Amino acid sequence: MFNFSIDKKTQSSEFDQIKKWDFLVVGGGPAGLNAALYAKRKGLKVGIIVNEIGGQLNNTTWVDNYIGFSMIEGEELSNKFLDHVKQLEVPILKGVYVQGIEQVKQDFNVSVSNGKEYTTKTLLLATGGEPRKLGVTGEKEFTNKGVTYCATCDAPFFKDKHVIVAGGGNSAVEGVIDLVPWASKITLVHRSQFRADKILLDKLNDIDKLDIHLETQIISVVGNEQMTGIQALDKHTNEKKLIKADGLLIEIGTEANSKLIKDIVETNEREEIKVDLNQMTSVPGLFAAGDVTEQPFKQIIISAAEGAKAALAVNQYLIQIYKGE
Ligand SMILES: Cc1cc2nc3c(=O)[nH]c(=O)nc-3n(C[C@H](O)[C@H](O)[C@H](O)COP(=O)(O)OP(=O)(O)OC[C@H]3O[C@@H](n4cnc5c(N)ncnc54)[C@H](O)[C@@H]3O)c2cc1C
Repeated sequence: MFNFSIDKKTQSSEFDQIKKWDFLVVGGGPAGLNAALYAKRKGLKVGIIVNEIGGQLNNTTWVDNYIGFSMIEGEELSNKFLDHVKQLEVPILKGVYVQGIEQVKQDFNVSVSNGKEYTTKTLLLATGGEPRKLGVTGEKEFTNKGVTYCATCDAPFFKDKHVIVAGGGNSAVEGVIDLVPWASKITLVHRSQFRADKILLDKLNDIDKLDIHLETQIISVVGNEQMTGIQALDKHTNEKKLIKADGLLIEIGTEANSKLIKDIVETNEREEIKVDLNQMTSVPGLFAAGDVTEQPFKQIIISAAEGAKAALAVNQYLIQIYKGE
């Protein structure tokens, strides 16, 4: 049963009382919250430091692919995760940013925007990522009103609609493929030539309802209550054109929030953190989970699962390294 009195115990004062944590989690999205839940159940001294509980779930209108919930609002799912973590009385320091992470011998010092520093034996970075934006007029205004950044998540919402896909890499082509069972018409628009793999591009040849506009730059998203189309510049003719559509799927990559540790751990070319099968980075004791890692499928259930894996691995690591200390 949810207990409101727990809230009092999860404020900064309680957080400050612990001299050295077993495990600190940076981030309160699906990865961070599930990691804390699993760690607490193992009896670890665990706390969460987070700017905004819920992470990207707060920008998600409807989730219909998290098993057990056929249709749930992103924020409601996040509240359910949080309630579960609160039942276990995990201390949460929220509304703050972690600004620096420093390794001192085996431990980590975490400096936070409240001016304080916390020491922990192990640390999880679960700071997620953000879809890369086009940065054009109307994009923000029509987000969730036709504009979306996640084909896997939103394709079924475009049943019998005309959808524009922005991008020319693998994720844009996969976005087109995800839309095929749902959309009545698909238009792919990309500012230069395709960068996607040939094996994926070959699949586009069989899609009758697909139009492709390469060397075409999106200038703005237009609409009223909902988006109704885009303005685009044809770079060959230098002419502007209006393409009417019900949706715009922007698939131009994600940016991992990895800057806190990208200079001390191994990352890939997109600055996503490399981890082993136990979610451990190249620095022993420093773990990463969810969208901040290089795992290719950025989804709630996958982030949550990686958080769980990290917590279980942290528990094993502490037993091995500290031998019951
Ligand atoms: C519009 C949209 C719709 C989506 N729809 C779906 C869907 O229907 N189904 C699905 O499975 N997936 C969906 N996704 C993807 C899903 O939301 C993500 O894969 C998932 O949220 C990633 O979880 P995470 O915990 O790794 O990171 P995030 O959710 O990004 O959480 C990151 C956390 O870290 C915190 N943080 C970041 N930096 C700092 C810092 N320096 N200090 C303190 N805290 C920090 C943030 O405040 C946040 O709490 C969608 C994504 C978007 C953008």
